[in-house]
Amino acid sequence: MEIKNVMVVGAGQMGAGIAQVCAQAGYQVLLHDIKEAAVEKGLAVIQKNLTRQVEKERMTEDDKNMILANVIKSTTITDAENADIIIEAVVEKVEVKTAIFTELDRYAPAHAILASNTSSLPITEIAAATKRPDRVIGMHFMNPVPVMKLVEIIRGLATTEEVFSVIEMMTKKLKKVPVAVNDFPGFISNRVLMPMINEAVYALYEGVASKEAIDEVMKLGMNHPMGPLTLADFIGLDTCLFIMETLHDGFGDDKYRPCPLLRKYVKAGWLGKKTGRGFYTYE
Ligand code: NAD
Repeated sequence: MEIKNVMVVGAGQMGAGIAQVCAQAGYQVLLHDIKEAAVEKGLAVIQKNLTRQVEKERMTEDDKNMILANVIKSTTITDAENADIIIEAVVEKVEVKTAIFTELDRYAPAHAILASNTSSLPITEIAAATKRPDRVIGMHFMNPVPVMKLVEIIRGLATTEEVFSVIEMMTKKLKKVPVAVNDFPGFISNRVLMPMINEAVYALYEGVASKEAIDEVMKLGMNHPMGPLTLADFIGLDTCLFIMETLHDGFGDDKYRPCPLLRKYVKAGWLGKKTGRGFYTYE
């Protein structure tokens, strides 16, 4: 099957990045969000990223304009009727994702693949909210999408081999590296990463060290490009909390219990870089 038209649902940090790399690869992209302001913001981020590429002489002004012309704004879910693939990147809540997949299933053409960029939620459960579980798959991009090479590809219980290979090929066309992972909470990336971040929050909560010291130890000592608390701010503290809850519920093991300090920050609306404040403050 040939993919020409891509719809990205959710125009936040991840959705905007996914729309950008798809447009750069020559796909026609509908960038959708329930909030008009979020679509505008997502498009502004894409514009800013591409302008930076032009300034660094990595692309021409003409390239930039051609890429931007590939992105169309959408706030109407029925626009799914024009898509060959829909990549969902809304909040990490299973009830929100399943409701969206039921809607998308209603409007998308029968051949369309429904993919989720979920960081941790069961693809099989999301697929069960549709009448086409065989055409539902996990396509887990990393943040920031235009920079990071990995895409975890997760088959649900019913996902066909045809759908898997279409997604594998598309990932390569996006100049990314697909890695197949089975459908268990947090897949590989967040099963390993998120407990480390949560442990760093516990260390801060228990006063073992300052936030700067925790980040410095992991940067200098473990050669990580950024400390775990800075990384949590980049990911979004709400997303980190939702992933820990998914691991905790999914495995029923207390080693995954989210740190109370993480809960407190999320309740305060300190969600990290995207809200200007998390463990650190941002302009
Ligand atoms: P975000 O908060 O930046 O963006 C989410 C967007 O979804 C918002 O613009 C919101 O308006 C929109 N939205 C909410 N409900 C919607 C609906 N019903 N229909 C359409 N749009 C809706 O979040 P994000 O960081 O981009 O994360 C999105 C998804 O990507 C989550 O599942 C997350 O786990 C996953 N993810 C995040 C990261 C990361 O580092 N942040 C990395 C990989 C995967």
